[in-house]
Amino acid sequence: MNRVVLIKYGELTTKKGNRKFFVNTLYANIKNKLKGLNVKIHKDISRMYIEFSDEELDEVLKRINNIFGIHEYVVAYIVDSDVETIKENVLRVMKDLSFKTFKVETKRSDKRFPIHSLDFSRQLGGLILKNIPDIKVDVRNPEVLLNVEIREYHTYIYTNHYEGLGGYPNGTLGNAMLMLSGGIDSPVSAYLTLKRGVKLNCIYFEAIPHTSIEARNKVITLTKKLSKYTDFIKLHIVPFTEIQEAIYREVEDDYCITIMRRMMYRITERVAKMNNCMIIANGESIGQVASQTLTSMAVINEVTNMPVIRPVACLDKLEIIDIAKKIDTYETSILPFEDCCTVFVPKHPVINPKLNLCVEYENRFDYQSMIDEAIENINTMIIRDEKDTTFEDLL
Ligand code: ATP
Ligand code: MG
Repeated sequence: MNRVVLIKYGELTTKKGNRKFFVNTLYANIKNKLKGLNVKIHKDISRMYIEFSDEELDEVLKRINNIFGIHEYVVAYIVDSDVETIKENVLRVMKDLSFKTFKVETKRSDKRFPIHSLDFSRQLGGLILKNIPDIKVDVRNPEVLLNVEIREYHTYIYTNHYEGLGGYPNGTLGNAMLMLSGGIDSPVSAYLTLKRGVKLNCIYFEAIPHTSIEARNKVITLTKKLSKYTDFIKLHIVPFTEIQEAIYREVEDDYCITIMRRMMYRITERVAKMNNCMIIANGESIGQVASQTLTSMAVINEVTNMPVIRPVACLDKLEIIDIAKKIDTYETSILPFEDCCTVFVPKHPVINPKLNLCVEYENRFDYQSMIDEAIENINTMIIRDEKDTTFEDLL
């Protein structure tokens, strides 16, 4: 008996006008992720079917697990849509399992099939009871739920189902520039943004020698971990030392972080535009630190008109950590290498910064030409899940 992986789209089906585009993008993404494996993929309006060779099933499932836009998937036996063939194979499938209780659910999308769904479920149930000893039907909480989906040519028989990642297929909703630090929050924001079907570029500000190569490596590792949810991620590494030193030379201590973040936003906006990104995303979370009070966020955000999304803005740290562990970024994020935000933290960063003071302090130095120079000297890496990228590629 042949098997296929049957993929259900879930949330996509609510996008009426765009459905074809969503399905086609998902199809391309799945094809891309399964590259190198011996598979054949077919699609129709509500399902995708992947033919595979048995020894590669685990690998196929592992890769499908990281694809957004898949609501649920199952491994199904595929047989001809003929009453006797279905009965015979249902029995074979059930005889291979060990269980005490079961339930049959039939779905007949091909209305030409001669038996109604409920009647057919009853017939199959009776057949199973007659042929397998010591079992009974339990409609509420069965150990085995046998699904029989009857379609025009083929019928799918399965007893398992796996939850997919959900969300929208990567690339269906444009591009964002994500500010990626080595912390816990921004990789989680990256994951949540990717989940909405948005492709990512990442931008990282470093202040060598105040920050280390290890800190950069950490960001590369995080980007690599995130790239398994998409095809590749462009990581832009911005040399921020000169700007940061100027800030600490010219600006009052309590405003250093505020001004530093305004500079980061200015650069991020420009790099976003250069890379076709419509929005900025970051890991800010309301109230987490002085620069993330509502007043600070407003004063910092004032330098750009580009929409800024903050997927973890309203999550507690513990909720963010839960997601970080689930997506396997937590252990990397907690490695103790200093980021440029933490190197020069003032004793009392301002909690309610004033815009006019920011402007006054910024006018003390020619930040515009420093920004131009930083952008000119950006290092961009393309990071894929499969490629073993390290910082040496940059040297
Ligand atoms: P933590 O998880 O410890 O809070 P963090 O990365 O969130 O670390 P914050 O100081 O809270 O650090 O910074 C808020 C957000 O600003 C980050 O989530 C990130 O999006 C952005 N950011 C901070 N530092 C950098 C940096 N060096 N490069 C790029 N983005 C940064
Ligand atoms: Mg944070």
